[in-house]
Amino acid sequence: MSKKFDVIIIGSGIGGLTIASLLSKNKKVLLLEKNNNFGGYCAAFKRKGYRFESAVQAINGLYKGSPIYEVLKKSQALNGVKIVRPRHLYRSIFPDYDISVPQANINKYKTLLFSLFPDEKNNIINLFDTLKSIYLEMSRFYRKKTLAKSPFILKYGRRSLQELMDGFTKNKKLRAVISQYWMYRGLPPTKLSAITFAYIWYDYTANGSYFPKDGMHSIMQNLVDFIKNNNGVILHDREVNKLFVDFDRITELGLENSSRYEADMVISNIDVFKTFGMVVSGDTLDIESFLSKLKNNFLSISAFKIYLGLNIDVRKIGIKDYEIFVNPSYDAESMYQASLNNEFEKVPYSITIYSNLSDSFCKKGKSVVSIGLLSGYDFWRNLTRSEYKQKKEEMAEIILSRCEKVIPGLRKYIKVKTIATPLTMERYTGNSNGSIYGWNKKSLIEEIRFMNPTTPIKNLLLSSHWTKMGGGIGGVLLSSDRVYNLINNKA
Ligand SMILES: Cc1cc2nc3c(=O)[nH]c(=O)nc-3n(C[C@H](O)[C@H](O)[C@H](O)COP(=O)(O)OP(=O)(O)OC[C@H]3O[C@@H](n4cnc5c(N)ncnc54)[C@H](O)[C@@H]3O)c2cc1C
Repeated sequence: MSKKFDVIIIGSGIGGLTIASLLSKNKKVLLLEKNNNFGGYCAAFKRKGYRFESAVQAINGLYKGSPIYEVLKKSQALNGVKIVRPRHLYRSIFPDYDISVPQANINKYKTLLFSLFPDEKNNIINLFDTLKSIYLEMSRFYRKKTLAKSPFILKYGRRSLQELMDGFTKNKKLRAVISQYWMYRGLPPTKLSAITFAYIWYDYTANGSYFPKDGMHSIMQNLVDFIKNNNGVILHDREVNKLFVDFDRITELGLENSSRYEADMVISNIDVFKTFGMVVSGDTLDIESFLSKLKNNFLSISAFKIYLGLNIDVRKIGIKDYEIFVNPSYDAESMYQASLNNEFEKVPYSITIYSNLSDSFCKKGKSVVSIGLLSGYDFWRNLTRSEYKQKKEEMAEIILSRCEKVIPGLRKYIKVKTIATPLTMERYTGNSNGSIYGWNKKSLIEEIRFMNPTTPIKNLLLSSHWTKMGGGIGGVLLSSDRVYNLINNKA
């Protein structure tokens, strides 16, 4: 006999836990997670006294009044959590520049750029003004759901970042410096929506980058506690593998361990292809045509990560930064291609030193460092098991050797080293091809039209980074809030 709940949520990424927490106040909720821990890309893991973040290094919009902050507050995720900002937004290394971008001080950043590119002063002012106008119009769009009186969005809605930049400056170095955050979106300026970039760029640059002092785990644990305190149920090691559908409703969920559950409403906070791949239906429900529409869209790129526990506090050797981007050239297009093809000598990468943000990641005198880069999936999938093992070590060595130019002697301090490839990302979270943000969306128009939470199955809703407004913590939280409002008939 199957057990019955009001709502069942599949997957305990930040999106799944947030909705479960919001709904648990007045519904009987069950959350099913396939792993033996919760969090998906927001999970933490420990090795020999070092605590690592699986993925996330910075969040925009974690300040009072921002919609992202308000969703977390409403879901009780922030109780007792201290949110901090690194001293600098980030440090950016290029062949001729080593720039520390000021934190939440756009005027100081402008002045810094004026000193590096004196001939470009007016272009910088005009470009920054345009990026700010787009941000303000988008903020209004998120609040009021209207594009009325949004001339900048109408002008740039279908354009790429490259096309936007073309209107302001031809200086390749300046463009590369300002568009550093393309790496956060996993697309180079020719393919990246001007609007998406402008929104996150302004939010980070003007309002700051944030992170919980004790890691994402502190937010996730609060969500778990709140759900349980409201008599919600969270089960680990429970992989959903069947959605039994009768006509247009899910009647039961089947698990790998053969148990069954029933609910009035099911919310899938996992990969959309995996979700519909689980449907077992005796009827002619037209899932195929729904899925075929999705097949024309592209998945976001995956990532390669090296997690390091060091037996030195890197501040003692002069490294005080939290996040450092290393760019071997100014040509984002060729660097993106190198990432897709896994040419590790040529890829850009980032170094995040969590222990420089907070002393909770490791003991005194040690450091927790994470190196991340974008990485194409196919290269890894096509290797045999032994080739894969060998390649990931070889590739990590290439990056570690390059890193020594930034952290001198890095390799001699390594006490713990763990490597994750796109295949690890896929295996751990179930995201197809190890996609880091769900879909790639090339324009605002695609984002607005794309992936509503409702589906052809009446009691199945979708959340997560596979639905509107997409990838990154901010997008996922807004998607959870949207689903919550839908269920409460507020949307
Ligand atoms: C390397 C990397 C760096 C990133 N850095 C940042 C950053 O700095 N800032 C930022 O904003 N965003 C960042 N992101 C993106 C962000 O982490 C994700 O967009 C977000 O965490 C996705 O959350 P989610 O709720 O959609 O679910 P996911 O994190 O994808 O979790 C899905 C969960 O569902 C579970 N699951 C899957 N299938 C099943 C099943 N059949 N049954 C039961 N459970 C199942 C999985 O085990 C997993 O726990 C990064 C991502 C990566 C990979």
